[in-house]
Amino acid sequence: MLEIRDGAISLGECACCQQARFFLTRYVFEENAPVAAYIATFTNGHHEKGVHIALTTGSWDEGASDLHRQTFLLDVWMDQDEHHMRFADWDGDVWDQIDFPGVKHGREAALKSDHLDQLYLFKDAILKEDGLIRRFFDQGYVELRKSDKPKTR
Ligand SMILES: [Zn+2]
Repeated sequence: MLEIRDGAISLGECACCQQARFFLTRYVFEENAPVAAYIATFTNGHHEKGVHIALTTGSWDEGASDLHRQTFLLDVWMDQDEHHMRFADWDGDVWDQIDFPGVKHGREAALKSDHLDQLYLFKDAILKEDGLIRRFFDQGYVELRKSDKPKTR
């Protein structure tokens, strides 16, 4: 059973409309052990653009090298009340400002990955458990509440 835990939330501005652009950092745990992390970004009012996710998987053991981690890009959007997902390439400007540990994999590498099944499980867990992403897809925008602040553990 995968569990999503909250990390930092940072806010920026959409270049075209100055609406709030969200960057969520989240951690994925399985039986209390970290198995993945992701950054998700979306912009209020840009429901049609969906949510961009950079998902990092691999070894989270102490001392594990960054080379044992891989980052994949997932684009998720809604159509006819259904989620759609595609793996994306690193050619847009969405992730320009962010450093990722480990190896960056594009669409082809994702589809050929030995861990493709696991990537889909992560995607399912994110869409089911990430409250802010769910609210974005429900309403097309998100207003932060007190409960959205990450809990200290
Ligand atoms: Zn905009």
